[in-house]
Amino acid sequence: MKKLGFGFMRLPLSDKNDFGSIDIDTVKKMTDMFMEKGFCYFDTAFPYHREKSEEAIRECLVKRYPRDSFILADKMPTARVTSGDDYPVIFETQLERCGVEYFDCYLLHNIWKKSYRETESFGGFDFIREKMKEGRIKHFGFSFHDEPELLDEVLKNHPEAEFVQLQLNYLDWESPGVRARECYETARKYGRDIIVMEPNKGGSLINIPKEAEELFRAYDPDGSNAKWAMRFCASLPGVRVVLSGMSAIEQLSDNMSFMDDFRPFNDEEIKITEKVRDIVAKSAAIGCTKCRYCTEDCPAGIPIPEFIDAYNSYCMTKNMGNAGMYYRRYAMGRGLASSCLDCGNCEQRCPQHLKIRKILSGIADTFEPKN
Ligand code: SF4
Ligand code: SF4
Repeated sequence: MKKLGFGFMRLPLSDKNDFGSIDIDTVKKMTDMFMEKGFCYFDTAFPYHREKSEEAIRECLVKRYPRDSFILADKMPTARVTSGDDYPVIFETQLERCGVEYFDCYLLHNIWKKSYRETESFGGFDFIREKMKEGRIKHFGFSFHDEPELLDEVLKNHPEAEFVQLQLNYLDWESPGVRARECYETARKYGRDIIVMEPNKGGSLINIPKEAEELFRAYDPDGSNAKWAMRFCASLPGVRVVLSGMSAIEQLSDNMSFMDDFRPFNDEEIKITEKVRDIVAKSAAIGCTKCRYCTEDCPAGIPIPEFIDAYNSYCMTKNMGNAGMYYRRYAMGRGLASSCLDCGNCEQRCPQHLKIRKILSGIADTFEPKN
């Protein structure tokens, strides 16, 4: 199987202010291009795009291609489960939304300390085993957002999990917060396949400082920053698929250009990437991946990842004009950073363990005029 996976989480939109308004015609074109080149792995999840991603999979892929010509991965939204009774209801809803009889790959979405304990106590693993016996789940895994010690515990207790979806990218590789390398090594220790998510850290590794970009260009004048980020992950032994949340045809074409006939990193490319990592790590203000989990339960309706994006852009460029314009645009019809109610829901959900309330306070100080 080719190693590029199509993540249906940052699809092109018809209305850029409405995350649920997926541009189905463009996604159909992208799906066709992807399939034509022999790529076949598609990834969706219950909450993506305000719960419209699974339907987009049905319209763009399932209705238009033979069922055995693609691999479909979906995920049980552990954050929505409040008792064991929820599992069958959600699972059937997902099959119906996707228009399929079974999932090739099915994951428990976002396993971390709290969701792991809950899944154990609600019988989530038993439910999965039952669906596997029924043939409605072919392969089982989980996406993981916590420390390697917990990953070790889950993998030890659940040999039925064939693969793990991990957040790996060259910037987080040695990050003391994310500990990507240690998580990777834990999964390898148990011999599990690895699916990579966030290979470019939600786009953060696309807009990198000029000095870093020059190092990449000196070696590979035509190679994009995405190419370096994706190939770093795809070069790691045990990685079966690298997911990319592609939002435009150009991104898809670029990804396919180097993942079609994939060539792993050589020693020099590893060294260059390590140098770039140091430069980017010094310049990045806040390591948000734009996964949007924090926005699911925010009573103030604050577009947290967009605000962080505007703030990061300001920190990198020091261009208040542009960044401030983005901030005001993102805030239109939603909550300002200063409207945070301090409930902490967002921080409970953030896989990067960001201190979102403190960050929002800094963002309000930066962008909101003082009276
Ligand atoms: S702490 Fe603030 S930003 Fe976070 S969920 Fe609550 S209101 Fe929203
Ligand atoms: S703040 Fe955290 S939860 Fe929210 S989008 Fe960023 S990384 Fe995801």
